[in-house]
Amino acid sequence: MTHKSHVIALDLGGTKIAGAVVRNGKILKKQIVPTPKDSASSVVSAMLELIQELLVFSPHARLIGVGTPGSIDHQNGIVRYAANLPGFINLPLQDMLSNQLNKTVTLENDAKAAAIAEHVYGAAKNASSSMFITISTGIGGAIIQNNRIWYGAKGIAGEIGHLKTQTAPDQFSAFEHLASGTAIARDASTVFKRPMQTKEVFELAQTGNQNALELVALAAKRIGHMIADLQLIVDPEVFVLGGGVSQAGQFFLEQITIAANNHAAGFAQVCIRQAALGTDAGMIGAAYLAEQQADDSQLLRV
Ligand code: ADP
Repeated sequence: MTHKSHVIALDLGGTKIAGAVVRNGKILKKQIVPTPKDSASSVVSAMLELIQELLVFSPHARLIGVGTPGSIDHQNGIVRYAANLPGFINLPLQDMLSNQLNKTVTLENDAKAAAIAEHVYGAAKNASSSMFITISTGIGGAIIQNNRIWYGAKGIAGEIGHLKTQTAPDQFSAFEHLASGTAIARDASTVFKRPMQTKEVFELAQTGNQNALELVALAAKRIGHMIADLQLIVDPEVFVLGGGVSQAGQFFLEQITIAANNHAAGFAQVCIRQAALGTDAGMIGAAYLAEQQADDSQLLRV
């Protein structure tokens, strides 16, 4: 057995780089290293080292899939800009990796990679369309139709954290500013008059604390109303909720679903599921996309 079907996948983050050998959506081996903070070249060296270590386990892997924060120029294999990564401005990451490794490298935005993984192998498996929403430090999202990412003209389709809603007669705020983990912690710190973590707010709410229950209900209402509006525009079969805050689980998911369906018209009821693949989604998606691109270029050659 040559293990040619093994794909090396990396999920690059501001704090850590997770790498894995993936086969058919399953992680066979995983390794995590810290992300260097000083320069883009140190980050790329750490990525190369991690890939080499995984190649020892799986020497016949031909494809490398990389999920990275930020905006990607797919045509040229460039990361245009990634906040939280040093020197990641117009970085030709695809060539920097493939020239050293002599393997085919595919890049994708990390939220889009997680979205396709949940669609193909996770919570939206068997759905023809899905929309992934990550409630994390910020809020992100991606749209999937028939196992393909819907990019839009500028590649920004699904980036719903930037959608704005009216919060006062003359004031509009980004959704991310209102309902992300950061926003919930900020509002809670004001209410409780001490620094609060988002997780703590949910734990207090589960014990019946009235202030915490109101904060969670407000966040659920904001997210639910946004999802109800998205149903009318995108109309996905399933919404998949991922990111750290979604770890609050059914307690939060139920409130979001009720808020969404109370807000939505009868013909536009929503289906929301919790993400199933956790922190592995980015790597599993990056591996899938590397395979999809290899299949596509084979088709082009025929
Ligand atoms: P990142 O934004 O770096 O991708 P995460 O997706 O893990 O990170 O999201 C971080 C946010 O999720 C933080 O606001 C954190 O407090 C919150 N969070 C983490 N675990 C939970 C939990 N069990 N319940 C509610 N919020 C959580």
